[in-house]
Amino acid sequence: MTTRPQHHPQDDLLVSHASRSEHPAVGLLMSTHAALCDECRHTVKVLETVGATLFEQDDALVLSGSLRDAHATYRAGDVADYDQSNSHEPFVDASEDCLCLVVNESRLVPQTLLGRALAWISGA
Ligand SMILES: [Zn+2]
Repeated sequence: MTTRPQHHPQDDLLVSHASRSEHPAVGLLMSTHAALCDECRHTVKVLETVGATLFEQDDALVLSGSLRDAHATYRAGDVADYDQSNSHEPFVDASEDCLCLVVNESRLVPQTLLGRALAWISGA
């Protein structure tokens, strides 16, 4: 017999989990819930895609905290130089919040329904 979860984490926890910015214990809880819940697993996947899309073709200056991708870890003062020749999926280190200044030189083209909705809401 398979049961489906009836109570889900709030949106802020899903966003934190998608950006890997939550406490490791909360990350374990969220990963376990997502393994059991198709709905939340799908939402986290969409949020991860939106986050990756927002960082594509952008330069980011880390103001506080840190983020990492497959190439490096960026800390306060570092510039993560992203361009069209390579793809990045940055993650915020879980130990602290990360604040970045992101400069986008091209038009964002969201690939997901959520991304298109966020672009519409923001007027992009
Ligand atoms: Zn759920």
